[in-house]
Order: sequence, then structure tokens, then C-alpha cells
Amino acid sequence: MSLVIRNLRGGVAGTEILRGVDLEVAPGEVHALMGPNGSGKSTLSHVLMGREGYEATGGSVTVDGMEILGLETSRRAAAGLFLAMQYPIEVPGVRIADLLASSMRARGVDPSDLDAALATEAARLEVRDEFLTRGVNVEFSGGEQKRAETLQLAVLRPGYAVLDEIDSGLDVDALRDVARRVKAMTTENGLGVLAITHYSRLLTELTPDVVHVFMGGRIVTSGGPELADELEAGGYDGIAARLGIEVPGPVQTRADDPFADPGF
Ligand code: ADP
Ligand code: MG
Repeated sequence: MSLVIRNLRGGVAGTEILRGVDLEVAPGEVHALMGPNGSGKSTLSHVLMGREGYEATGGSVTVDGMEILGLETSRRAAAGLFLAMQYPIEVPGVRIADLLASSMRARGVDPSDLDAALATEAARLEVRDEFLTRGVNVEFSGGEQKRAETLQLAVLRPGYAVLDEIDSGLDVDALRDVARRVKAMTTENGLGVLAITHYSRLLTELTPDVVHVFMGGRIVTSGGPELADELEAGGYDGIAARLGIEVPGPVQTRADDPFADPGF
């Protein structure tokens, strides 16, 4: 029982971005993945979830023993994997409840308790009613999107969640609410978390068991929470110097890159 990533290679549009990622998240554990812009963190999340255009070229990913590479995204979700995307997609005309009902059916879960669960979680996460009636993410602010993603996570109760910069765009109060809700799921539901983040501020609430530093498409070192403190103090350059490696620049897939991380 674990999310196990072994020597995962892959990328996008024929460019290799992931260069051998090894990672194992057990139920109830929180792993933080920290790395500079353009190092391939979001690419890892998309390759794990099987987003269109992203491809695994080697290695394996198993969810509680089941290989998920090559499966449709919905099958990966049914296997217990959830992704909160860095830039959530707007779905006009589809409410969160509609999206959740179809996700639950895909997982073989009866959605008849959905409304009650949604109301409970919306109150717990202070998601206002108007966000439940609008199209998913349509005219949501960055912070509202992240609360809504957390709401979906809490209702769906997957085995493992990849949270890609769930802290971006959140003010201090929202960050605390989201981090506490996720942390509670690790103890109440045994949720295993891979939290991708730039900032150690998320990690003061969502205390990680393991911190991984990710550069150039692979994990260069792993450690306890003190690794996040080292990063905060000395940056990626400091870690690289200690390891005797260079901080690789971002992979350039094309000169005018429309997918470059805007850095907010
Ligand atoms: P991070 O999340 O660590 O900032 P990303 O995974 O978003 O990094 O990006 C890694 C590299 O892959 C960057 O050079 C980025 O421009 C490129 N990339 C990511 N997604 C795409 C895509 N869909 N098409 C082309 N290039 C992409
Ligand atoms: Mg990213």
C-alpha cells in the first residue's frame, strides 16, 4: 500500500523533462516536493495523472500495487489518485457537484450522499454557496480555486493527492484553512500527500514527513523538515553547492514558450 514512483522518465511534446524520478508515499504521509521554476514539478503531476500531451517514456507508477502508466486519467482517478492542478481548468456550465458526481461514479462510489458531504465540506472550508452554483473555476480568484480544489479532495477522499502549488494565491488565513483540512485528511482518512510547493510557509501548517528537492527533472536530495529550512536560508544554490552540483536552468521546449511558469 503506497504510491510508488520508480525511475520515472517522460515529458511533453517529445522533450524529456523528467529524468528518473523515484518517490514513495505511504498512506498518511506528507511529502513535500520543492524545486525552482521550470524544473518539471507540474510536468511530474501531469505525467502522473496522464494529462493529454504528457507522456511517460520509462519507469513505473503504482497505486497500492496497481500500475497506472498507460491508463486513462479517469482510471488513474479510480485507482485512488487525485491531482489539484497549479492552474485549474475552467469548466463553464458544470458545477462542482456535477463534476464530483461523475468522478464518484467513475470510482464506483454511489453519489447519493454527495449533497450532504458537499455542504459539510463547504462550511468547513468556508466556500460560499455562489461558488457551488457557478461553473467550476469560472471567475474564481486564485484563492477560491484552491479552496474549491480542496473541497473536491475532501469529498472524493482519494488514497493519494498530488497538490501542485495549492498555496499559490492564498492569503494567510486561506492557506491555514486549506493546509489544516489536508492535514486532517492524512490522519482521518489515511490520505497520502505529495505537496509541490515553492514556499516553506505551507509546510509550517502541513508538516511534511519527508522533503524532496527537485531540480532538472529529478530529486537531487531528500530529508526531513529541516531541508525546507535549509532551502529557506540558502536557496537552491545553497543546496546545489552542498551537493556539488549545478542548478540546472529550465528545460527550453521552444524559444517563445507559452507554457513557461509566469512565476506567481
Ligand atoms: P515547474 O512546475 O517546476 O515550474 P513545469 O513542469 O511547468 O515546471 O515546466 C518544465 C518545463 O517544461 C518548462 O520548460 C516548461 O516550459 C515545459 N513545459 C511544461 N508543460 C509544457 C507544455 N504543455 N508544452 C510545452 N512545454 C511545456
Ligand atoms: Mg509548476
